[in-house]
Amino acid sequence: MKQMATTMFLSSTIIDDGNTAVLEPVEEVLQAQGRLRDKFGRAITDLRVSVTDRCNYKCVYCRTGNEGAQYTELPIADYLRMVRLFVSLGVEKIRLTGGEPLLRSGLVEMVRELAGMRTAYLPDGTFVGETPGKGLPLDIALTTNGHLLEGLAQPLKDAGLSRVTVSMDAVDAETFAAITRVPRSFDKVLAGVRKAQAMGLGPVKVNCVLLRGFNDSQIEQFAEFSRREGVIVRFIEWMPLEEDRSWKRETVISMDEIVARLNAYRPLVELAPHAASETAKRFTFDDGVGEIGIIAPVSRPFCGHCSRVRLTSDGKIRTCLFSQSDHDLYGRMVRGGTDAELAAYIREIVMHKEARHHIGEPGFEKPSRNMVHIGG
Ligand code: SAM
Repeated sequence: MKQMATTMFLSSTIIDDGNTAVLEPVEEVLQAQGRLRDKFGRAITDLRVSVTDRCNYKCVYCRTGNEGAQYTELPIADYLRMVRLFVSLGVEKIRLTGGEPLLRSGLVEMVRELAGMRTAYLPDGTFVGETPGKGLPLDIALTTNGHLLEGLAQPLKDAGLSRVTVSMDAVDAETFAAITRVPRSFDKVLAGVRKAQAMGLGPVKVNCVLLRGFNDSQIEQFAEFSRREGVIVRFIEWMPLEEDRSWKRETVISMDEIVARLNAYRPLVELAPHAASETAKRFTFDDGVGEIGIIAPVSRPFCGHCSRVRLTSDGKIRTCLFSQSDHDLYGRMVRGGTDAELAAYIREIVMHKEARHHIGEPGFEKPSRNMVHIGG
């Protein structure tokens, strides 16, 4: 019954030059049946589940504004069965996303069911499976544009949601409306952020994608926002995942530029990472008030420590945001796949997770789906 996860070979497989990780397949992993790993030895502990690819915002860097949902939504019970399989293999964190997940009926019930699940592995790597009273609760997070959050924060908290991340690309109402292309939207999102804070769905993270010429004037105001509201503001470099193929490297505001601007506003102090797989570099200011994270997939890729896979709203596994294809877990499930068969399929797909993305390199190919249809 007891199985120890083999972790000792991890450090030998990741050769990280500080920017781009170079990964090499590891023989022991190819043969192991312990917790979910890819062939490079990366443990897959985070699953992002899109519950719809509908969205009520038309953010300029994400959607054209003309195209709607393109993929099916599944019954909540079917997402739950697939999540349970991933959990049985070692997933510990579930992030619900979309599209806009708060548009999805049944979301609160889904959170309640997720809150009842337990991890199959203990922090020391001991396998406990579904032994009652042994595993730990999952970390259940939600990424939302916050438009409907004020009304849903309480029921979601009561159902067992651990924390929320709210996407907010400006702290100035006019800039915000210009980006989201939804008039009078800022006040609703701000109310959602405050309600989530008050409900203890924290630490609330506020994600901002900076675009040169659009919202880069907001960097210092976001620093003030973090200090004033007590939220973690995270700047994310814009990735080529938008519907209208408008991405240009010149429009991306890089980590170095953000750090320079923040330092001029007030000296930054770097914070230690919570975990090796953490995507954000974390900072506070010289007086310890406020927290800023910078996620730099373009200028400082962190693929070498990636612990994530995604499940799309139509039940396909995606092993990387930049994958050229997805893998039909749901199709196998509706054709009568047993749990053992589906778990074996997940292992096989995850084993072949891409080593890294190739943003900005010659020959870079756009992924087969855009962000809104994958689940960010
Ligand atoms: N609707 C929800 C929301 O707004 O948070 C969840 C889905 S949205 C696709 C998830 C996150 O992806 C948001 O924080 C959004 O800003 C971010 N995002 C969308 N397109 C992006 C891109 N091309 N590059 C970087 N981040 C992107």
